[in-house]
Amino acid sequence: MIDTHAHLDFPDYNADRDEVIARAQSVGVKRIVNIGCDLTSSANSVDLANRFGHIFAAVGIHPHDAKQYDDLAEEKLRELANSSRVVAIGEVGLDFYRDHSPRDQQREAFVRQIALAKELGLPLVVHVRNAYSEALDILSSEKAYQINVVLHCFSGNREEAVRAIDYGFFLSVGGVLTFTNSRLPELISKMPLESILLETDAPYLTPHPHRGARNEPALIQLVYQKLAETLGRSFAEIEVQIDRNAETFFEFE
Ligand SMILES: [Zn+2]
Ligand SMILES: [Zn+2]
Repeated sequence: MIDTHAHLDFPDYNADRDEVIARAQSVGVKRIVNIGCDLTSSANSVDLANRFGHIFAAVGIHPHDAKQYDDLAEEKLRELANSSRVVAIGEVGLDFYRDHSPRDQQREAFVRQIALAKELGLPLVVHVRNAYSEALDILSSEKAYQINVVLHCFSGNREEAVRAIDYGFFLSVGGVLTFTNSRLPELISKMPLESILLETDAPYLTPHPHRGARNEPALIQLVYQKLAETLGRSFAEIEVQIDRNAETFFEFE
């Protein structure tokens, strides 16, 4: 199993970070990608990736913090991305649900980080909430389809999913897939399995039946399990295909 999106640098893990990481390894999580949200968490992601051989980092400015994005921030990201431990730019995108940064600044930070990922030849991890149509427009006009792009914690509709797949983008899903009454299993089962990645987004979006508690990468096995059940396939079969997708996406050996 591979957890393609976690935030293990967050203070939620200050008391037991090493145990959380060990627990994931003990259930068979062989790689974790730790995702940056701002300059501090991006630097912390790289530090974590330097400490653990199976943890890799993504660096980027989340739409919530888009108001931080300027030339200096971009230079800092470029510097961090120099590390061989950095496998993606992210998470970046548009969040018109929380609107923690003005929308114009979100758009500008998004466009500039798409350009940065293209310049560096790195995959892009995209966060979108209540803005799929515009985010897909921007990804298309900025020719993001020239690099690997994943829409993490996908929450769009069928039409948006199909449009993303048509651009060659990946869809990533996590704990929401396991929630009672989730529409995701139905939607994901109609998409090509080669375009799906799985993630925890830990500490958020804890899978059923642990919903409400802190999430951690070990619980990604519940997401693999749910996908296997949804598709009527064995866990082992799903694991082989999903891990291959993640290896292709991040260009792991
Ligand atoms: Zn996100
Ligand atoms: Zn995240």
